[in-house]
Amino acid sequence: MVKGTTSFGKRGKNITHIRCRRCGHHSFNIRKGYCAHCGFGRSKRIRKYSWQNKKTVTRIRLV
Ligand SMILES: [Zn+2]
Repeated sequence: MVKGTTSFGKRGKNITHIRCRRCGHHSFNIRKGYCAHCGFGRSKRIRKYSWQNKKTVTRIRLV
């Protein structure tokens, strides 16, 4: 399978994600029942990871 024309035939079939009603992203997995972006349906808290934040880089400088 290639990225181009041949794979376009599967478009529209096997919908896994719909638009999430909490974060608005097109990341709500219907089968699993939760949003891959904000974690809606999986947990009450908003999905957040430490590696998401790029600005606060606490990098220890090796001397
Ligand atoms: Zn979401």
